[in-house]
Amino acid sequence: MTAAQDPSADIAQEMLRERITLHSRALLWMPPIHAAMIVVMAFLSLSRVPARLFGCWAAAVLCVEAARAVYGRRTLQQVERIDPRRVHLRHIVAAAISGAVVGLACPLFMPYLEIAQRSLLVCILAAFPAVGVSVAMASRSVSGIYSLGVLVPTAAGWIGLYPHQAAVVVIAVLIYSSTVVLASAESERMLRRSVEIRRERDKMVLDLERSNAEVHAAVALAQREAQARSRVLASASHDLRQPLHALSAYSAVLTNDPAPETLHEVAAHVNQIVKSLGDLLHGLLDLSQLASGSYVPILQHFDLGDLMERILSEYRTAASDKGLVLKSDLEAIVVYGDALTIARITRNLLDNAIKYTEHGSVALSVRHVRGMATICIADTGSGIPVAEQARVFEEFYQVDNPARDRSRGVGLGLAIVQRLAQLIGGRVELHSQVGSGSRFEVLIPNASLAAPLLPSVRSGASAVPAGRKIYVIDDEVDIRLSMVQLLKSWQIEAHAAGDAAQARLLFDKAGRPDLLMVDLRLRDGENGARLARQLHARYGDFAVLIVTGETASPALQEARHTGWPVLSKPLHADQLRQAIDAALPASSPVFGKDAAGAIVLPATDATE
Ligand code: ADP
Repeated sequence: MTAAQDPSADIAQEMLRERITLHSRALLWMPPIHAAMIVVMAFLSLSRVPARLFGCWAAAVLCVEAARAVYGRRTLQQVERIDPRRVHLRHIVAAAISGAVVGLACPLFMPYLEIAQRSLLVCILAAFPAVGVSVAMASRSVSGIYSLGVLVPTAAGWIGLYPHQAAVVVIAVLIYSSTVVLASAESERMLRRSVEIRRERDKMVLDLERSNAEVHAAVALAQREAQARSRVLASASHDLRQPLHALSAYSAVLTNDPAPETLHEVAAHVNQIVKSLGDLLHGLLDLSQLASGSYVPILQHFDLGDLMERILSEYRTAASDKGLVLKSDLEAIVVYGDALTIARITRNLLDNAIKYTEHGSVALSVRHVRGMATICIADTGSGIPVAEQARVFEEFYQVDNPARDRSRGVGLGLAIVQRLAQLIGGRVELHSQVGSGSRFEVLIPNASLAAPLLPSVRSGASAVPAGRKIYVIDDEVDIRLSMVQLLKSWQIEAHAAGDAAQARLLFDKAGRPDLLMVDLRLRDGENGARLARQLHARYGDFAVLIVTGETASPALQEARHTGWPVLSKPLHADQLRQAIDAALPASSPVFGKDAAGAIVLPATDATE
């Protein structure tokens, strides 16, 4: 442990500095005190001691004390910068010199004095070490050396004249010096305690300030969250009312005028409204799931470049429809993370890049820098003004859409992207210039450049494979009927079952399907994911899509861990089609697990 970490070394250092400060302050008083002592000595001895001798001694005493006072002042001026050990050592040496010069009075003057004056002189000199204890300010070394400095010449002067008293004098000097040192040790202990108390107080003040700051931050956060919640609620209720209002108007139109041409026109509008309502609901559900902390990332090793390649292929048509060039610069990077979450982030950003770019290109690249993977989505679109760049990550915030035109999105995408990125320990950075385009960078931890651990996964989604067989298991009769109808409209052979028993009957009668779409929560507590696993075990391999209205439950976590795509209701037809495309490409094995047991990813993000 270094001195900086060791608290007792810290205290010793602080004490030394404290002692030096106190001693330096006391030194400032030494010249006048010694001058007073010289006056007393002059009265005592000048009648007998030669004036020149006395003058030399007095001058020496004053010089030493003046030097000590000057050094003391300098020390006080730069007490934070001094080396305390060195300064303390100098104080010890100076104390020895000061004591010795004072003590020299005894051997120098004693021969000229009478016995009474000698005794008085010794008494005066013996008082000095006692005074020195308070001047030394809890430094045993300074007070000890000072008393020896005074007492040794004093004792030597006395013994020189009265050698038969040598033993008594030596013992007296030893006892006296030890007492002085003990007294100093006691004040050293007191100083230590007061330093400790001061440190405890400082720590308490610091802790108090810190917890105060934490409370303030928590209050500010709670206020911000409350404001954000009311903003979200206000925007959500507006964005829900508007399409519902339009829907009720269209349903009235259909009731009043069910002519085929009206039907066709209204159907297109209704489709758009339902899609935007679905987007809004999904966004809100995602946000609530992320806020509740129930979104649990599933960690696995996967090849990021490969995942990006597959996602990119989903956007080729959308980009070419708008005349945009879709560029990529991908490399094999192995990431230990939640592939589904990373896929959702990327799709959101690619969606936006294509949506907000009218000319030029959209480029997707991945890079590896010091253990982090960076997914970069750059476009040559409208760009985002600097003043708006932080706000676009807020819920419902859209640039330049005051009328809240729902065909331009609902303004939840980037808020979700940012939360998802935080959830996987990453972050999103935005660089954009109006007119030049935008670049979103997603930084993801736990990446390495090692060879991919997974076999290459499918790339690209094929068109809906007509003629394939899909079973729908759902306890809601409306959902069963609408799903079967929708699938049939795509030339897919579709059958439905309402529960596990009906499903087994269906499997027995019509064989296993290419794909099973199963509701997670079936009637009587049956679990769709578990049922799919049982059917798998009994009837062999087929692709599975789990569909659910749940946003947070143990059953949902369990379903996510199966590795099968989990789709959230309400599910728009396009999303369903995309998920089926991904689960049933023209020539590939069904969705499952690779040899290493890692999940082979679906081409479509389940929960979007
Ligand atoms: P939405 O796209 O549904 O409006 P988002 O949260 O995804 O909501 O985006 C918020 C806003 O940020 C958008 O309304 C848009 O103005 C702006 N934005 C996002 N991505 C881009 C981009 N690539 N280019 C220009 N503007 C963008």
